Amino acid sequence: MSNNKLTTSWGAPVGDNQNSMTAGHRGPTLIQDVHLLEKLAHFNRERVPERVVHAKGAGAHGYFEVTNDVSKYTKANLFSEVGKRTPMFIRFSTVAGELGSADTVRDPRGFAVKFYTEEGNYDIVGNNTPVFFIRDAIKFPDFIHTQKRDPKTHLKNPTAVWDFWSHSPESLHQVSILMSDRGIPATLRHMHGFGSHTFKWVNKEGEGVWIKYHFKTEQGVKNLAVDAAAQIAGENPDYHTEDLFNAIQNGDYPAWTLYVQIMPLEDADTYKFDPFDVTKVWSQKDYPLIEVGRMVLDRNPENYFAEVEQATFSPGTLVPGIEVSPDKMLQGRLFAYSDAHRYRVGANHNALPINRPKCPVHNNQRDGQMRFDGNGGGSVYYEPNSFGGPTESPADKATPFAVSGVADSVAYDHYDHYTQAGDLYRLLSEEERTRLVENIVGAMTPVELEEIKLRQIGHFYKADPEYGTRIAEGLGLSVPETVK
Ligand code: NDP
Repeated sequence: MSNNKLTTSWGAPVGDNQNSMTAGHRGPTLIQDVHLLEKLAHFNRERVPERVVHAKGAGAHGYFEVTNDVSKYTKANLFSEVGKRTPMFIRFSTVAGELGSADTVRDPRGFAVKFYTEEGNYDIVGNNTPVFFIRDAIKFPDFIHTQKRDPKTHLKNPTAVWDFWSHSPESLHQVSILMSDRGIPATLRHMHGFGSHTFKWVNKEGEGVWIKYHFKTEQGVKNLAVDAAAQIAGENPDYHTEDLFNAIQNGDYPAWTLYVQIMPLEDADTYKFDPFDVTKVWSQKDYPLIEVGRMVLDRNPENYFAEVEQATFSPGTLVPGIEVSPDKMLQGRLFAYSDAHRYRVGANHNALPINRPKCPVHNNQRDGQMRFDGNGGGSVYYEPNSFGGPTESPADKATPFAVSGVADSVAYDHYDHYTQAGDLYRLLSEEERTRLVENIVGAMTPVELEEIKLRQIGHFYKADPEYGTRIAEGLGLSVPETVK
């Protein structure tokens, strides 16, 4: 028997895949053509819900190699010795657009890395920017509503975008990066990646430090001019996806050098900015970059849906030696990401080949939809037990940390929203500033309410008077006297 026979999903040979079974030559189709029924029904179910954010993505496999000994800071197995290689998978994405949207739009890019370490998977779920628009996860659904389509017109709504930002001045730093040249990367290979949040590294002695991750592109930073990006979006909406695939296919493997900034735990109480505020960076003059290793992408996915669409990343996918910080965006994401995966892919998403750890998994999770592995077989399924089941390892407990204060919903209105956005403006060249201002003026022109424009101009002015004044002039308005 040929081993290349077309079969049904239950493995039986298909007799005819071109002609459905009908009652007579011209008669209606028979419901007993179960191959037809199965084929149509499965086709209807080919999509899982697209991600609410980061729907459009491209992925690649590769490896991470340690180039500098950081074992005095973390006991994490993947960073344990120079020369150690760990397999990894990365998914790049835009944020606001749908699965079929254009790649070359102005948007942050997702930069989600999964390391398949010997002590479990470790995910860094970052962006191509070091900061974020908001610092508290409670604002995230409202923020994303303004980035997605208007419920009435089903169009993008610049009034909603700038209304939200102007009422959330902590967004100013990220808005300034987004509106700068780096808001439209030339390719996915020509941009940096950042863990963005602050995390804790813990060494074998149980001593911790706060850290931030920086992936610096070895291809150099390159961006697209606004006109070129718009033209490419029309002609080849999958431009970035295609570029990444072709580069890897041609053996031109993209690489990033991973650095960390390291802050002693006690500095968190005295640093000039709240180090757990994801709208802020740590100045590299205060905490210089320390090299850790290299990430190289050298293999394309074999199947987009299986490897890229079904890939699930969460900032809570942690390994011993790496812990979280009190960053409120991070704390919210610890819930939201895994929850999204349980909804989108299912409760057993971590058992899928792309998400499955390459080390053994032993736990008492059983059953659930699409349980396609052995489901633990006949092994013990509860703990504690008398039958030699897997047991906890106290040495791998997260380190204890002190908390203090009064439980409350704490506002951060007194925080400085402006200095770092101004620092960014001031480090740009005159040409970069001009393009930044043009981009913002272009984006704000369609805003319907003048009060929104004036409120936002006030924020730009507070970051740097020149910045605000040039945007006001571009919009044909004046900086409000109240902010001068
Ligand atoms: P530094 O001068 O020590 O560092 C400036 C940083 O800005 C470098 O990481 C540089 O690295 C990056 N940079 C340079 N040009 C641009 C650009 N056009 N758009 C975005 N980033 C750029 O100063 P500080 O660390 O004190 O930071 C000053 C400002 O730099 C911050 O307010 C922030 O806006 C911005 N920045 C800071 C980062 C940090 O982690 N401290 C990271 C990225 C930006 P490179 O050219 O390789 O990107």
